[in-house]
Amino acid sequence: MKGTVMKADVVVIGAGVIGAQTAVQLVDRGLSVVVVDPGPPGGEQAASYGNLAWLSSHSILPPASPGVWRQVPKWLFDPMGPLSLRLGHLPRALPWLLRYLASASTEEKLRRTAGHLRALLKGSPALHAEMAARTGLSHLIDANSGLMHVYRDRAGYQADALGWTIRRDLGITCEEIEADDLARRQPDLSPDYRFGIFVPEAGQCRNPGAYCAGLAAHAERFGAQRIAARATGFRAAGGRLQSVVTTQGEITCGAAVIAAGAQAKALAAQAGDSVPLESERGYHFMVEGDAGLAGPTTSLMAGDRKVVVTRLETGVRCGGQVEIAAADAPADWRRADILRRHLAEMFPGLDTSQGRVWMGSRPSMPDGLPVIGAAAGLAGVVHAFGHGHTGLVGSARTGQLVAQLVSGETPELDLSPYSPARFR
Ligand SMILES: Cc1cc2nc3c(=O)[nH]c(=O)nc-3n(C[C@H](O)[C@H](O)[C@H](O)COP(=O)(O)OP(=O)(O)OC[C@H]3O[C@@H](n4cnc5c(N)ncnc54)[C@H](O)[C@@H]3O)c2cc1C
Repeated sequence: MKGTVMKADVVVIGAGVIGAQTAVQLVDRGLSVVVVDPGPPGGEQAASYGNLAWLSSHSILPPASPGVWRQVPKWLFDPMGPLSLRLGHLPRALPWLLRYLASASTEEKLRRTAGHLRALLKGSPALHAEMAARTGLSHLIDANSGLMHVYRDRAGYQADALGWTIRRDLGITCEEIEADDLARRQPDLSPDYRFGIFVPEAGQCRNPGAYCAGLAAHAERFGAQRIAARATGFRAAGGRLQSVVTTQGEITCGAAVIAAGAQAKALAAQAGDSVPLESERGYHFMVEGDAGLAGPTTSLMAGDRKVVVTRLETGVRCGGQVEIAAADAPADWRRADILRRHLAEMFPGLDTSQGRVWMGSRPSMPDGLPVIGAAAGLAGVVHAFGHGHTGLVGSARTGQLVAQLVSGETPELDLSPYSPARFR
């Protein structure tokens, strides 16, 4: 369509899980929608493809915590550690990193963020189940699986005690699992793990990429159009959006949603909001095969390694950890091999000699909260990005909130904690 002009009520920029959920909600309201993305929905370019599939309504703590800075040097020098940093990128990343540490420097700040994330994520597994039922994707959502955190011993758990206390204070049930019970419930897990916490309210997706693609396909079946293009900016008149400019031409529209994940920063700036969005890269290593593979019965996170192991319909996936690097820096596949080694140590019965590797970018804000809300400088533009480690679980409610905003309904949640104005 290069050079030509299309028309739509709403342009959704980005076909990751945030854009796909939003598109479904918008077409349901009878709006005409164009989804713009240079890649396929839920394709390997998107974080929504390769994540760990947790529908973790209890993931309400930002990755940083009070005093975490003391552990950073140890992590950086540990080749198996949960954090890596490309030194060349440090000058650019430093302001974000300092903000990231500062935003979780006290218990009060941590509790505030946890409260805001809880408001967004509470009930999310059920919301995903409803969405999956509406879109013919129920086979991809298990809203009742529960999720597990495992530790080598109770002392390891107690080192995370503040986070668990905050969760309990916010009404999240967390069941303790002693060694014998853990061995019974996770027979393939290394006996090095002797304590666990089970969170019954959480769920999991069985194939995040397929879920995202399925949502986008549903939106298309109900009238959404998809353009393989990159959005490059906006055209405005009198402070109001007129069109979205893309590499394939312009799309005249009444509203646009920026759901471009880790690449949303430049578009947000064009809409009047300068936001500290950074890419927190993550890798996965995946042993492909059927359910006969050794691995977790319930998806779990190892507290000492900061990695998650999930059984998907396509195999067993291990991922997590964080790499801070320039968005366009080549992948460091040694990070994926580190995940392979963690997986082999946690599940000794699993053949990890072969597997698929992937790298993607979490769209992360330094305070651990996403950016959802109207743009300051361009009426008609709505932000929906920055979900960091919780974009899959948070996508169902985000799609609802954004559709409510775009269609002039009162959002079901007070959006001020997620407003881009918090960075002004
Ligand atoms: C290793 C790892 C594990 C994770 N595990 C979990 C988990 O278990 N549970 C959970 O809830 N979250 C998890 N996450 C986080 C989650 O994957 C992300 O928060 C979420 O996928 C972000 O979705 P998104 O739609 O905002 O971005 P993305 O999925 O990255 O999609 C953004 C899309 O925008 C497109 N785009 C970019 N720029 C433009 C442009 N200019 N024009 C048009 N299109 C554009 C891109 O091509 C892409 O398709 C994990 C992330 C990683 C990396």
